Amino acid sequence: MTESTVSDGIHYHQFDVVIVGAGGAGMRAAIEAAPHASTAVITKLYPTRSHTGAAQGGMAAALANVEDDNAEWHTYDTVKGGDYLVDQDAAEILTREAIDAVLDLENMGLPFNRTPDGKIDQRRFGGHTRDHGKAPVRRACYAADRTGHMILQTLYQNCVKHGVNFFNEFYALDLVMTEVDGVKRVAGVVAYELATGEIHVFQGKSVIFATGGFGKIFKTTSNAHTLTGDGVGIIWRKGLPLEDMEFYQFHPTGLAGLGILLTEGARGEGAILRNASGERFMERYAPTIKDLAPRDIVARSMVQEVLDGRGAGPHKDYVYLDCTHLGAEVLETKLPDITEFARTYLGVDPVVERVPVYPTAHYAMGGIPTNNDAEVLSDNDTVVPGLYAAGECACVSVHGSNRLGTNSLLDINVFGKRAGNNAVTYAKGADFVPLPDDAADGVVGWLKQLRASTGTESVAQIRKELQETMDRNAQVFRTEDTLNAAAAEVRDLRTRYLGVAVRDKGKRFNTDLLEAVELGFLLDLAEVLVVCALNRKESRGGHMRDDFPKRDDVNYMQHTMAYLSGDAHSSESDDHIRLDWKPVRKTIYEPTERKY
Ligand SMILES: Cc1cc2nc3c(=O)[nH]c(=O)nc-3n(C[C@H](O)[C@H](O)[C@H](O)COP(=O)(O)OP(=O)(O)OC[C@H]3O[C@@H](n4cnc5c(N)ncnc54)[C@H](O)[C@@H]3O)c2cc1C
Repeated sequence: MTESTVSDGIHYHQFDVVIVGAGGAGMRAAIEAAPHASTAVITKLYPTRSHTGAAQGGMAAALANVEDDNAEWHTYDTVKGGDYLVDQDAAEILTREAIDAVLDLENMGLPFNRTPDGKIDQRRFGGHTRDHGKAPVRRACYAADRTGHMILQTLYQNCVKHGVNFFNEFYALDLVMTEVDGVKRVAGVVAYELATGEIHVFQGKSVIFATGGFGKIFKTTSNAHTLTGDGVGIIWRKGLPLEDMEFYQFHPTGLAGLGILLTEGARGEGAILRNASGERFMERYAPTIKDLAPRDIVARSMVQEVLDGRGAGPHKDYVYLDCTHLGAEVLETKLPDITEFARTYLGVDPVVERVPVYPTAHYAMGGIPTNNDAEVLSDNDTVVPGLYAAGECACVSVHGSNRLGTNSLLDINVFGKRAGNNAVTYAKGADFVPLPDDAADGVVGWLKQLRASTGTESVAQIRKELQETMDRNAQVFRTEDTLNAAAAEVRDLRTRYLGVAVRDKGKRFNTDLLEAVELGFLLDLAEVLVVCALNRKESRGGHMRDDFPKRDDVNYMQHTMAYLSGDAHSSESDDHIRLDWKPVRKTIYEPTERKY
């Protein structure tokens, strides 16, 4: 632990490497950094409460433990699954380094499920195939349906072993950048301590953002309440770009009406989607791999069934996940948590009954642009010296316009490790960038203003309306009209947000204040998503435009880059958002029609 001082009521700390976020990506980075440099992890949640712990189904790696497989097939699937918007060199790194990523975890003590001869067992998952789409392949390493829980616990134990300094329940609210010789460099992070309401400035030679996703812009979501996109929002407000924000993944099997996730691992083990009349409808949409098609295709097919009147239930608004033929033993041993979720939350027993399911907002493909070394990119792919991002908040882009299941737990390990290694190498060769005297002023003023607000708008009400409009207008199917409706409503909500009431004026555990802060990030990101979605007049991966149903490689085989130009708090129009394009990096895979 390095020195820590207090001046004018603000706490100052100095660490070589400062990591924001203690999910899988942040802790995997910390394990690389801590043995070589002083390392702090700032996290708004106690580390083992991070969303990585909710991940169920598995982590992809072509170990070929149970059947033929190799990294090239995995790359092909990732590129095709991402509807060719994937940067192919990045996907090659992901799949090549996957094997070590799993073995690293095994060596750290992760209790994977085993085959009878003691190897790490593997199961099927959507979009993962043998020999370029011929049939589903067993590629997902898993620990029952608690893979993320095991990863998070294992990483946390190893962080403790390596002496990582955790600052738990500290909310990062700003990134400090200082101009040195005409170049903006990272100087540190400003954070708010939940327990005391005090402000801390963490000076760091390098800073890694690993703050996770922002599923809470939607109402029906598998994401935890805390996934409000703070890190992505902070980067945005700093004037740095965001990439591919229109691509949001809707996971096919959320519990109907609730959004709570039932892992694709269930279909990996053989579960089948059926419509109201019991038909296995995926045979019509993806004749080769059926229920194990990528998520964008399955989610769209489910919604189509409902739109065509083949939905089940009193309102014909969901379909069924049928696990009844799997048998009690498979469900209890390989899928125990989701079996329990269905019983607890819907009162349905998957052993004997079909479970009502419907798509749920799940994963942000877009986010903070980085290169393959996890360095954050500014305009024209210029590296921001000392700044890194990894995990769901980052866009490398290994997932393109649609992530394959089990590739995120892989991504956080591969690129978390790369971020940690590169950040520590950078820190060893760099000096601390001086902190400006007013480093904390922005945050102090902002929170003071929120506390002093005499407005009457309710955080919960604005959040509810935001989530409802996003579900209604920017979900699985989108059109110009629905997106325009979302844009107008989000803009209106941003205006109302200026008059938001914070009733708790106190310092200790002021979650009222922080929910207001988080709502601000949600509103910013929802607006960027909708503006990017309006601009992409084609359908690709998770972005389905009913008015432009075809993929258009001539005009849109490019990443969207969004820039804040002007005031982040402007709510009048979207002219504070500037859009640009960036080429997709290709290696050997030519885009073809995506058939499964
Ligand atoms: C229910 C569910 C099941 C899933 N199942 C799978 C699966 O089987 N396989 C797979 O590959 N993927 C799965 N995913 C996706 C995958 O789990 C996530 O994308 C991944 O775990 C994200 O990891 P992360 O480290 O980027 O972020 P997270 O694990 O979400 O961690 C984010 C961290 O950032 C911190 N943070 C956020 N904001 C701030 C702030 N302002 N200040 C300080 N700290 C902050 C939080 O405290 C937290 O520690 C699943 C996701 C969900 C929701």
